[in-house]
Amino acid sequence: MHAKPRQGEVELICGCMFSGKSGMLISRITAARSRGLSVAAFKHASDDRYARTRIAAHDGRSCEAVPVEHSGQIPAAARGARLVVIDEAQFFDAGLPEVCRSLAEGGADVLLAGLDLDAWGLPFGPMPALEGMADRITRLHAICAVCGARADRTQRIAPVEGRSMVGGPGAYEPRCAACFVAPPAALRR
Ligand SMILES: [Zn+2]
Repeated sequence: MHAKPRQGEVELICGCMFSGKSGMLISRITAARSRGLSVAAFKHASDDRYARTRIAAHDGRSCEAVPVEHSGQIPAAARGARLVVIDEAQFFDAGLPEVCRSLAEGGADVLLAGLDLDAWGLPFGPMPALEGMADRITRLHAICAVCGARADRTQRIAPVEGRSMVGGPGAYEPRCAACFVAPPAALRR
């Protein structure tokens, strides 16, 4: 009898801005490192809200991460890490789910975080495909900035300059579905 090779899990953390996704990633990275596990952390190169090479939470905590432009760069850069962390998953290409499955088959646990909905309240990038293939999904919520209800939308409160959700905390606020107002559809690219 041969021991079955370790199969990793793909876990997705999704939710609106200010729902604590990056904070949860940082806690999980810290916990894995304290158990002696090797961690490789990545973020999409288009996210430069805080620092190009860090995963940053709104509470000020941060963690080093390698900025990458394409999901295909991740396997070689992860170099056999036991936990592979990917932040801002919504900015990645359609190849990301396959990369995650392949890393898990190679024995790594993959932990992703991303915005499930864009500023128009519509599915964001590869997030629906990731939700379809993830072994585990954690859905986080924020508090609506208008009425205090549970929020799952990200309201753009600064002028829209394209589909990118990149922007400082001042450009967005969390809102519930009832208080959310989508920007004009013509501005969505
Ligand atoms: Zn509300």
